[in-house]
Amino acid sequence: MKNGCMIICCGLCMVLVAFSQAQAQAQAPFGLVIHGGAGTILKKNMTPEKEAAYKAKLEEALRAGYEVLKQGGASLDAVQAAITHMEDSPLFNAGKGAVFTADGKNEMDAAVMDGKTLKAGAITGVRHIKNPILLARAVMDKSEHVMLTGDGAEKFAKMQGFTMMPEKYFYTEERWKSLQKAKELEKQGVKPEAMPADKKHGTVGAVALDKAGNLGAGTSTGGMTNKKFGRVGDAPIIGSGTYANNASCAVSCTGHGEYFIRAVVAHDISSLMQYKGLTLQQACDEVVMRKLVTMGGEGGLIAIDSKGAMAMPFNSEGMYRGSITADGKITVEIYK
Ligand code: ASP
Repeated sequence: MKNGCMIICCGLCMVLVAFSQAQAQAQAPFGLVIHGGAGTILKKNMTPEKEAAYKAKLEEALRAGYEVLKQGGASLDAVQAAITHMEDSPLFNAGKGAVFTADGKNEMDAAVMDGKTLKAGAITGVRHIKNPILLARAVMDKSEHVMLTGDGAEKFAKMQGFTMMPEKYFYTEERWKSLQKAKELEKQGVKPEAMPADKKHGTVGAVALDKAGNLGAGTSTGGMTNKKFGRVGDAPIIGSGTYANNASCAVSCTGHGEYFIRAVVAHDISSLMQYKGLTLQQACDEVVMRKLVTMGGEGGLIAIDSKGAMAMPFNSEGMYRGSITADGKITVEIYK
């Protein structure tokens, strides 16, 4: 009899624990922040149609990631869903719409990081991968390495069953014209730093907090127009353009990569929170508005912390950006 009671009690306890866990999950904060690049994005240079197209794409990407999070999916799966959406759009400098190198090629970089395990995957200089972010994820999940480059990365992609796209898939007239313009300016002696920022870069990124409390970050880019000699930017460099750590935050950057690499932007923000106890906003202000500005580095980033606080600082004229919170509330903005 005693044993019977014990079994019933234990059973009840287990049901209660499972119930409260499910309730905690249902109430857990979760959210997603995305960017579609920072630069000299001015309202006066934008048509209403173009602005509407950008906003619509950002919203679609947010909804794609939100669906994953709402169903209880992992932060990195949401990040991936949002990013592939933007990679497939010619509006952004990633996947289709990637900028051209000085040799007239598209060379793409991407990275992902999992805040729970601190595992990461990155690829650089790939030329035939439709969704570079998915290859970065495969590097994290299915290889023993963190970063693969160029031909080796594509060889790995083939082994993983990725379809290789012809180079012409990545061609867009607008990016081609930007390359011609950049070459002209270069001939006139204009330094890369002084070239119009919207002509040089773009990049897409996403950071998310899921219902289980795990953070994830991802960034994907074509890099900078007219880049030379196999140049790699900050996006695929863990700690510079992309970083996630459950102990602090998840970060994805966009801007003049050379500066973001030297300032180790994403890891700096995480460290200021983890070791110095700064809030997400304070850490972002310190790095984006002070450190980077002092160095002369233009750009911005998106970040989310383990409690769901979000930040989208930038020191350029504009940054395509948006967020969605657990209640489904969306904000999308472009200008300062
Ligand atoms: N950060 C990227 C790079 O330097 C470009 C960008 O975000 O616009 O490759």
